Amino acid sequence: MAENIFLEVVTPSKTVVSEEAQVVVAPGSEGEFGVLKGHTTFLTSLKLGTLRYKDSSGKERVVFISGGFAEVLPNKVTVLAESAERRKDIDAERARLAKERAEKRLASRGDIDLIRAEAALRRSIHRLSIIGKA
Ligand code: ATP
Repeated sequence: MAENIFLEVVTPSKTVVSEEAQVVVAPGSEGEFGVLKGHTTFLTSLKLGTLRYKDSSGKERVVFISGGFAEVLPNKVTVLAESAERRKDIDAERARLAKERAEKRLASRGDIDLIRAEAALRRSIHRLSIIGKA
């Protein structure tokens, strides 16, 4: 069996993942990419999406990523995310409320920051889709 690669997913406020993985698949801004141990070094930005990896026991793990950067080295993947959480930590009610807030702001046609409201809406919808509640 191939050797594992070390995966670290950090945000400005917390470490979300710090463990060995058999394979990592991440939402690169140019498209999804997969990494196994021994991959050539590269740096890429990430878009909002889902990072998946197989942990050392082969179990598939799913992590919400709101965007950021990934550095790939032959033995390590480091993801610096704006915000991230494991699927099991996604709070459905919080995401539902965030979606409602964003939808209200977008419908108000008032003096709102459109880009910010749309980004909040996309985050909430993607969180809900990861937990099957979109
Ligand atoms: P909210 O308006 O509910 O804060 P948001 O999309 O603005 O949502 P982010 O800025 O992406 O939130 O994240 C802020 C912090 O809150 C991060 O630590 C993120 O992991 C966490 N977080 C946000 N929404 C959820 C959720 N539904 N479940 C669990 N953690 C969440």
